[in-house]
Amino acid sequence: MQSINQHIATVLKRERKRKGWSLDTTAEATGVSKAMLGQIEREESSPTIATLWKIATGMSLSFTSLVTDTSDGPLPILLHEAGQSRAPMPEDSLGVEILFPYDPLMGFEYMELTLPARVEHLSEPHESGVVEHVVVIKGKLEILHGNEWIKLKKGDALRFAADEPHGYRNTSQKPVIFHNVIRYPHKG
Ligand code: MN
Repeated sequence: MQSINQHIATVLKRERKRKGWSLDTTAEATGVSKAMLGQIEREESSPTIATLWKIATGMSLSFTSLVTDTSDGPLPILLHEAGQSRAPMPEDSLGVEILFPYDPLMGFEYMELTLPARVEHLSEPHESGVVEHVVVIKGKLEILHGNEWIKLKKGDALRFAADEPHGYRNTSQKPVIFHNVIRYPHKG
């Protein structure tokens, strides 16, 4: 069983090779510095969630295929007991809990995201055709789509094309928890 950092390094190196990308090209596509990418590949650095999102998005990967090993075979039965596998939430950045990792047969990944009070997370466009489905579980959330911040409250659901710049922010004083189903176009 590989550690998370080992897995990320393996995927990054494999995908770079598959695309024929140098570290320079990868840095340009992801917005992550060449030095940082090198450290990640040598397992010398634990990348932040924000950095992982940049790498996944810039390389047209699902978030989960970057951070978890999904090669165990298709459609395992998954059971998450709420709260049991929750990582401690960072106080100043986006927290991610993967509920259902990306599976090519299903074409989506399903995660629970937490934004602490007064935190904003912006995302570069995902690959063409990616769609996000957001449902607010607790608290208040705003989603940036186009030039507009759309206000959502508990129970509200929003679907949007995520192949353009978008963002998530919490302007309140309490954390917001929301679910996000990210659907990727079928890869040929
Ligand atoms: Mn996104």
